[in-house]
Amino acid sequence: MARKLTSPVITAESKAFFDAARAGKFTIPVCTACGKAHWYPRAICPFCSGEHVEWREASGKGTIYTFSVMRRVKEPYAIAHVTLAEGPTMLTNLVDCDFDKLRIGQAVSVVFQNSENGTPVPMFKPV
Ligand SMILES: [Zn+2]
Repeated sequence: MARKLTSPVITAESKAFFDAARAGKFTIPVCTACGKAHWYPRAICPFCSGEHVEWREASGKGTIYTFSVMRRVKEPYAIAHVTLAEGPTMLTNLVDCDFDKLRIGQAVSVVFQNSENGTPVPMFKPV
């Protein structure tokens, strides 16, 4: 895929995610008080306001909640919401696939692609 990926802005709340991603690990924040995972990264749990959130390695598996294919550009791409096996839904891209064969509910797994400055960005491909 030749499409250039804008590098993500790394914040205090997302730094741990990208550090792990550089090591090839897909992690998500999990609240130690209520046990729920969430996305996007936040220091305070959005479910119970717990202040103890830790990063845990996730399965990298999910299903397509919805998607849209952008075709009127030089390098077509598919943007999607993917619901992770651990619960949260992530805004992402679908890659390494035939866009005409994508469907809602399809099983996908994470794959990292490097953005312009080399920071890996999580995307998903059909399994
Ligand atoms: Zn919580």
